[in-house]
Amino acid sequence: MASALPFACECGTVSGTLTIGPEGDHVICHCTDCQNLAHYLGHPRVLDAEGGTALYQTRCARMRLASGRDRLACVHLTDKPTLRWYAGCCRTPLFNTVGTGKLPFITVQLAACDAAARERLLGPPGGHLFVQDAIGDASGLRKMRMATLMRRFAVRAIRDIVSGDRRRAALFDPQTLEPIAVPHRLTSEKRRALRDRSH
Ligand SMILES: [Zn+2]
Ligand SMILES: [Zn+2]
Repeated sequence: MASALPFACECGTVSGTLTIGPEGDHVICHCTDCQNLAHYLGHPRVLDAEGGTALYQTRCARMRLASGRDRLACVHLTDKPTLRWYAGCCRTPLFNTVGTGKLPFITVQLAACDAAARERLLGPPGGHLFVQDAIGDASGLRKMRMATLMRRFAVRAIRDIVSGDRRRAALFDPQTLEPIAVPHRLTSEKRRALRDRSH
Protein backbone atom coordinates (compact mmCIF):
# COMPACT_ATOMS: atom_id res chain seq x y z
CA MET A 1 0.00 0.00 0.00
CA ALA A 2 1.33 3.41 -0.95
CA SER A 3 1.52 6.26 1.54
CA ALA A 4 2.35 9.95 1.32
CA LEU A 5 5.48 11.37 2.93
CA PRO A 6 5.32 15.19 3.15
CA PHE A 7 8.43 17.29 2.57
CA ALA A 8 9.20 21.00 2.71
CA CYS A 9 12.17 23.32 2.55
CA GLU A 10 13.24 24.97 5.79
CA CYS A 11 11.20 28.15 5.23
CA GLY A 12 8.19 26.20 3.92
CA THR A 13 7.97 27.85 0.49
CA VAL A 14 8.71 24.67 -1.45
CA SER A 15 6.59 21.72 -0.37
CA GLY A 16 5.08 18.53 -1.67
CA THR A 17 4.67 14.84 -1.08
CA LEU A 18 6.53 11.70 -1.92
CA THR A 19 4.56 8.52 -2.50
CA ILE A 20 6.19 5.64 -0.66
CA GLY A 21 5.51 2.21 -2.09
CA PRO A 22 7.41 -1.02 -2.60
CA GLU A 23 9.68 0.49 -5.27
CA GLY A 24 12.28 2.57 -3.51
CA ASP A 25 15.60 2.45 -1.69
CA HIS A 26 16.34 4.16 1.60
CA VAL A 27 20.11 4.61 1.86
CA ILE A 28 22.70 6.72 3.66
CA CYS A 29 25.28 8.14 1.27
CA HIS A 30 28.68 9.15 2.65
CA CYS A 31 30.21 10.28 -0.65
CA THR A 32 32.25 13.46 -0.72
CA ASP A 33 29.90 15.11 -3.23
CA CYS A 34 26.89 14.70 -0.93
CA GLN A 35 28.94 16.10 1.97
CA ASN A 36 30.13 18.99 -0.19
CA LEU A 37 26.57 19.75 -1.25
CA ALA A 38 25.42 20.15 2.35
CA HIS A 39 28.32 22.54 3.05
CA TYR A 40 27.91 24.44 -0.21
CA LEU A 41 24.23 25.07 0.52
CA GLY A 42 24.95 26.02 4.14
CA HIS A 43 23.02 23.08 5.61
CA PRO A 44 25.73 20.87 7.15
CA ARG A 45 23.26 19.70 9.80
CA VAL A 46 21.57 17.42 7.25
CA LEU A 47 24.70 15.23 7.62
CA ASP A 48 24.86 12.60 10.34
CA ALA A 49 27.89 12.08 12.63
CA GLU A 50 29.62 9.96 9.96
CA GLY A 51 29.01 12.57 7.25
CA GLY A 52 26.08 10.59 5.83
CA THR A 53 23.11 11.98 3.90
CA ALA A 54 19.78 10.14 4.26
CA LEU A 55 18.28 9.58 0.80
CA TYR A 56 15.32 7.82 -0.77
CA GLN A 57 15.63 6.83 -4.40
CA THR A 58 12.46 5.98 -6.27
CA ARG A 59 10.48 6.29 -9.49
CA CYS A 60 10.51 9.76 -11.01
CA ALA A 61 6.78 10.51 -10.84
CA ARG A 62 6.40 9.60 -7.16
CA MET A 63 7.28 13.16 -6.12
CA ARG A 64 4.58 15.81 -6.42
CA LEU A 65 5.12 19.50 -5.74
CA ALA A 66 2.39 21.36 -3.87
CA SER A 67 4.03 24.80 -3.72
CA GLY A 68 7.16 26.74 -4.62
CA ARG A 69 7.84 25.23 -8.06
CA ASP A 70 9.24 28.55 -9.29
CA ARG A 71 11.68 28.69 -6.36
CA LEU A 72 13.49 25.47 -7.28
CA ALA A 73 17.12 25.81 -8.30
CA CYS A 74 19.64 23.22 -9.43
CA VAL A 75 23.41 22.89 -9.61
CA HIS A 76 26.05 20.55 -10.99
CA LEU A 77 28.69 20.46 -8.26
CA THR A 78 31.21 18.63 -10.46
CA ASP A 79 31.57 17.46 -14.07
CA LYS A 80 29.44 14.42 -13.21
CA PRO A 81 25.88 14.33 -14.59
CA THR A 82 24.30 14.46 -11.12
CA LEU A 83 22.01 17.46 -10.79
CA ARG A 84 21.41 18.70 -7.24
CA TRP A 85 18.07 20.42 -6.65
CA TYR A 86 17.47 22.80 -3.76
CA ALA A 87 15.04 25.47 -2.64
CA GLY A 88 16.30 28.85 -3.86
CA CYS A 89 14.53 30.60 -0.96
CA CYS A 90 16.49 29.02 1.92
CA ARG A 91 18.94 26.70 0.11
CA THR A 92 17.49 23.50 1.59
CA PRO A 93 18.79 20.48 -0.37
CA LEU A 94 15.79 18.61 -1.80
CA PHE A 95 16.44 16.18 -4.68
CA ASN A 96 19.08 14.59 -6.89
CA THR A 97 18.51 13.67 -10.54
CA VAL A 98 20.65 13.83 -13.65
CA GLY A 99 20.52 16.72 -16.11
CA THR A 100 17.81 15.18 -18.30
CA GLY A 101 14.52 13.47 -17.62
CA LYS A 102 15.39 10.90 -20.30
CA LEU A 103 17.05 8.85 -17.54
CA PRO A 104 14.17 8.84 -15.06
CA PHE A 105 14.64 8.59 -11.31
CA ILE A 106 14.47 10.83 -8.28
CA THR A 107 16.51 10.77 -5.11
CA VAL A 108 14.92 12.71 -2.26
CA GLN A 109 16.77 14.27 0.67
CA LEU A 110 15.07 12.74 3.69
CA ALA A 111 16.16 15.55 6.03
CA ALA A 112 13.52 17.69 4.28
CA CYS A 113 10.77 15.14 4.99
CA ASP A 114 8.39 14.97 7.93
CA ALA A 115 10.38 13.13 10.62
CA ALA A 116 7.54 11.12 12.20
CA ALA A 117 6.07 10.04 8.84
CA ARG A 118 9.55 9.21 7.62
CA GLU A 119 10.19 6.93 10.59
CA ARG A 120 6.81 5.26 10.21
CA LEU A 121 6.92 4.77 6.43
CA LEU A 122 10.59 4.02 5.83
CA GLY A 123 12.08 2.62 9.04
CA PRO A 124 15.84 2.12 9.12
CA PRO A 125 17.99 2.48 5.99
CA GLY A 126 18.69 -0.52 3.78
CA GLY A 127 22.40 0.25 3.88
CA HIS A 128 25.23 2.74 3.55
CA LEU A 129 26.99 3.86 0.36
CA PHE A 130 30.55 5.18 -0.10
CA VAL A 131 31.49 4.15 3.43
CA GLN A 132 35.14 4.77 2.47
CA ASP A 133 34.34 8.51 2.44
CA ALA A 134 32.67 8.46 5.87
CA ILE A 135 33.90 10.64 8.73
CA GLY A 136 35.34 8.93 11.81
CA ASP A 137 34.79 5.27 12.68
CA ALA A 138 32.59 3.76 9.97
CA SER A 139 33.34 0.12 10.81
CA GLY A 140 29.84 -0.47 12.24
CA LEU A 141 27.99 0.77 9.16
CA ARG A 142 26.25 -1.84 7.03
CA LYS A 143 27.22 -1.40 3.40
CA MET A 144 24.84 -1.62 0.49
CA ARG A 145 26.54 -2.93 -2.61
CA MET A 146 26.45 -0.41 -5.45
CA ALA A 147 25.69 -3.25 -7.90
CA THR A 148 22.53 -4.13 -5.93
CA LEU A 149 21.37 -0.52 -5.91
CA MET A 150 22.11 -0.05 -9.62
CA ARG A 151 20.17 -3.18 -10.54
CA ARG A 152 17.12 -1.96 -8.65
CA PHE A 153 17.58 1.52 -10.10
CA ALA A 154 17.64 0.09 -13.66
CA VAL A 155 14.40 -1.86 -13.16
CA ARG A 156 12.61 1.27 -11.94
CA ALA A 157 14.02 3.46 -14.73
CA ILE A 158 12.82 1.00 -17.37
CA ARG A 159 9.35 0.98 -15.80
CA ASP A 160 9.31 4.80 -15.84
CA ILE A 161 10.19 4.79 -19.54
CA VAL A 162 7.77 2.03 -20.58
CA SER A 163 4.85 3.41 -18.54
CA GLY A 164 5.41 6.98 -19.74
CA ASP A 165 5.95 8.13 -16.15
CA ARG A 166 9.10 10.00 -17.13
CA ARG A 167 6.79 12.53 -18.81
CA ARG A 168 4.97 12.94 -15.47
CA ALA A 169 8.06 13.84 -13.43
CA ALA A 170 7.67 17.14 -11.55
CA LEU A 171 11.24 18.34 -12.21
CA PHE A 172 11.29 17.95 -16.01
CA ASP A 173 9.31 19.38 -18.88
CA PRO A 174 6.93 16.67 -20.14
CA GLN A 175 7.76 17.36 -23.80
CA THR A 176 11.47 18.13 -23.85
CA LEU A 177 12.46 16.29 -20.63
CA GLU A 178 14.66 19.30 -19.86
CA PRO A 179 14.90 20.47 -16.21
CA ILE A 180 12.25 23.03 -15.15
CA ALA A 181 15.02 25.25 -13.66
CA VAL A 182 18.20 26.26 -15.47
CA PRO A 183 21.11 24.24 -14.05
CA HIS A 184 24.25 26.11 -13.09
CA ARG A 185 27.69 24.64 -12.66
CA LEU A 186 30.12 25.59 -9.91
CA THR A 187 33.06 27.75 -10.89
CA SER A 188 36.51 26.24 -10.47
CA GLU A 189 37.16 28.57 -7.49
CA LYS A 190 34.07 27.31 -5.69
CA ARG A 191 35.02 23.71 -6.47
CA ARG A 192 38.50 24.31 -5.12
CA ALA A 193 37.07 25.76 -1.92
CA LEU A 194 34.91 22.65 -1.45
CA ARG A 195 37.86 20.37 -2.18
CA ASP A 196 39.98 22.20 0.40
CA ARG A 197 37.20 21.79 2.95
CA SER A 198 37.22 18.01 2.54
CA HIS A 199 41.00 17.58 2.92
ZN1 LIG B 1 12.67 27.69 1.51
ZN1 LIG C 1 26.44 10.77 -2.25
